Amino acid sequence: MTKDIATPLRTQEIMAKHGLTVKKSLGQNFLIDPNILRKIVGKANLTKQSAAIEVGPGIGALTEHLAREAGKVLAFEIDQRLLPVLEDTLSPYDNVSIIHSDILKADVEAAIKEELAGYEDIMVVANLPYYVTTPIILKLLLEKLPIKGLVVMLQKEVAERITAKPGTKAYGSLSIAIQYYTEAEMALTVPKSVFLPQPNVDSAVIRMIKRPQPLVEVIDEDFFFTVTRSSFAQRRKTILNNLQVGMPQGKEKKELILKALAEAEIDPTRRGETLSIEEFGHLANKLHAYFK
Ligand code: SAM
Repeated sequence: MTKDIATPLRTQEIMAKHGLTVKKSLGQNFLIDPNILRKIVGKANLTKQSAAIEVGPGIGALTEHLAREAGKVLAFEIDQRLLPVLEDTLSPYDNVSIIHSDILKADVEAAIKEELAGYEDIMVVANLPYYVTTPIILKLLLEKLPIKGLVVMLQKEVAERITAKPGTKAYGSLSIAIQYYTEAEMALTVPKSVFLPQPNVDSAVIRMIKRPQPLVEVIDEDFFFTVTRSSFAQRRKTILNNLQVGMPQGKEKKELILKALAEAEIDPTRRGETLSIEEFGHLANKLHAYFK
């Protein structure tokens, strides 16, 4: 087996060899601990029959662990300076394709068709750039790609919001959006010492496995997400008050909201954070009849 990229010494050697400095604006915090990489990859349950999609391979620390475990790795990297570095560091592996692109602009579905044909078991595994974690996760879920799930490192605070249960402080529209599509759980908490440079915030790894069907059947997904976002606009307000601001203008608005709440059997004085995702789904379907 080749020497790991993710040791402090080898990372420094690679960066010196290529005259590379980190770009903080691109969320570049490289992993320098092979143990944490083994743990992250272990959470993805990869085999040679599965494929991995990585967002932001950096200098290849996680990529090489994925290449050892999976049949194929497809990685998207925004920073052009890293392409020759990756070509060098990943030269021992013939099962990695790197696409130079901003993941938010990439046609991921087309790339999967082209690069991962024949793979049915596809996991996204990444140490995400922290300035853009939520948009990346939402893009990968909303585009309804043929992926089984995601194992990603991100800020601990966002990880807590994503995996939060009703009735907790961290529970909100982000928890609902992600848990509507996936079963999300905290997989690892990670010390700052495994990164170069060390990030300012604490980190965690979460695992999200896509549900065969979304958690609740809704008539209109966009409207469902509008209802959930509105319900948390001011956390201390009741669901009725938040919806009065969030629903479109119209005659008898308050009466119609109260009617929908009664039909969904939800007390109008409850706060958004006490409603389960199923309750939000039922409420959105009732409101849809009056406001769409
Ligand atoms: N995977 C490497 C590791 O664990 O050492 C690097 C992870 S670093 C936290 C994030 C990586 O994402 C960087 O390589 C950065 O250049 C890349 N990146 C940042 N924004 C991106 C975007 N919008 N699309 C694709 N890659 C991006």
